[in-house]
Amino acid sequence: MFRKVKRAEKELSQEKTLAILSSEEHGVLSTIGEDGYPYGIPLNYIFHGGKIIFHCATKGHKLENIAFHKKVSFCVVKQADLVPEKFSTRFQSVIAFGNARILEGDEKKEGLRAIVQRLSPDHIPAGETYIKNAWEKTTVVAVDVEHMTGKAAPAPNHA
Ligand SMILES: Cc1cc2nc3c(=O)[nH]c(=O)nc-3n(C[C@H](O)[C@H](O)[C@H](O)COP(=O)(O)OP(=O)(O)OC[C@H]3O[C@@H](n4cnc5c(N)ncnc54)[C@H](O)[C@@H]3O)c2cc1C
Repeated sequence: MFRKVKRAEKELSQEKTLAILSSEEHGVLSTIGEDGYPYGIPLNYIFHGGKIIFHCATKGHKLENIAFHKKVSFCVVKQADLVPEKFSTRFQSVIAFGNARILEGDEKKEGLRAIVQRLSPDHIPAGETYIKNAWEKTTVVAVDVEHMTGKAAPAPNHA
């Protein structure tokens, strides 16, 4: 079902792909809507325990879409530098496909703690208070990744 990167020489190794997912902080989540429209939104995220995790409010377009269809994709761009004289772009990006699910209970708490540790490492104690206060108003979503690819131009061995 999943496709290979068309220009094989531009495909990043699994190690480099995972390194990009782990080091970046935002990406675009694409979900499928009941109305037939794809919906892509920028989100902060972490890559934790092999999952893409993000937090959000308890209602909204993306959660309605996830409830309609759990399959999502997530795109992270690490580098995007125009090379005008070559009519090209130097880029490094990752696309992951997987199933989104809402975390509950201990998994939700672990997800929120991991988000605080990764995105607000200098504010851990305040983060614990934030987690308690925002608990009812916050949804935590994990994407269990089924397939991911990384791609770069120029091809990685020439980079
Ligand atoms: C770098 C970055 C990081 C972010 N991190 C987070 C995060 O960690 N958690 C989080 O919940 N949100 C984050 N946001 C905001 C996020 O993009 C959404 O706006 C938000 O999650 C609400 O999504 P929703 O589907 O529930 O919106 P709804 O309010 O239900 O969407 C209604 C309509 O508003 C429009 N809309 C929604 N979001 C955007 C947008 N970003 N830009 C333009 N139009 C929009 C769309 O037309 C959509 O159909 C981030 C945004 C940016 C740019």
